[in-house]
Amino acid sequence: MSVVMGPTHAMSGAAVGLAVAQLLPEQWGGVSTVQETFLYAGLAAGAALLPDLDSPQATVSRSFGPISQFLSRTVENTAQGFVNFTRAKKDPKCRNGHRTLTHTVWFALATGVAATALIGTYGKPAVIGLLFVLLGLALRGLLPEWSKKADWLVLTAVSAALAYGAWYFIPSDSFGLVLGSAVAVGCLTHIVGDMATKQGVPILAPLIYFRGKRWGKFQLPKFLSITAGGAGDKLLLTAFSALVVAQISLLASGDIAALLTELTGR
Ligand SMILES: [Zn+2]
Repeated sequence: MSVVMGPTHAMSGAAVGLAVAQLLPEQWGGVSTVQETFLYAGLAAGAALLPDLDSPQATVSRSFGPISQFLSRTVENTAQGFVNFTRAKKDPKCRNGHRTLTHTVWFALATGVAATALIGTYGKPAVIGLLFVLLGLALRGLLPEWSKKADWLVLTAVSAALAYGAWYFIPSDSFGLVLGSAVAVGCLTHIVGDMATKQGVPILAPLIYFRGKRWGKFQLPKFLSITAGGAGDKLLLTAFSALVVAQISLLASGDIAALLTELTGR
């Protein structure tokens, strides 16, 4: 198993998303209520699966049938070609694009900017489309057992309902910026998560030239390293789940009354 499991990525995206949503500056708008915080976390959880689009076996690549399979192969081939085009003398020839282009900070930033630009250009349809795709991914990542058993039509319907509900309950002027930042945060969380594995990630490639390489891989300090799919992976999943539950309880205890009034008032 060479990839960190989808559920671990999704759960870490949710945990980091919950925290970041509460830290975002007030002027950004969009994240001021509990619902908006949850939406932000949901988007980050979904986006935390995106970098593995370069691997046809990953959750994200299997989520939308032949469409995501085709997209995955395209991304993997493009990444492979890009590495070979930009590699330095000491970089080995790339034979598989997994964990390259889509596992860089630049990809995370570009994806966030693209989401913001899409919303800026197309408005509401783009928002609903993005919510549909990202919340659908979050659902598959956070509830893997349920989503494996559920019919794809049910999954699609639930994703659509979530997207519509999110749009209905959370209208906001600066939705683009908020959504874009959630996407970037999710991708970045994924990349840092992969850095905890022994294979490492070329996080700044190809701009940084280091020890004769442009695609050299970096990893977190050894004592933090885990084996993807192994016990460390499960431990991380448990830790992030605990963080999510703790943050949700904190958020909910403070605002549960307001939330109930809001929900029943509509
Ligand atoms: Zn990955």
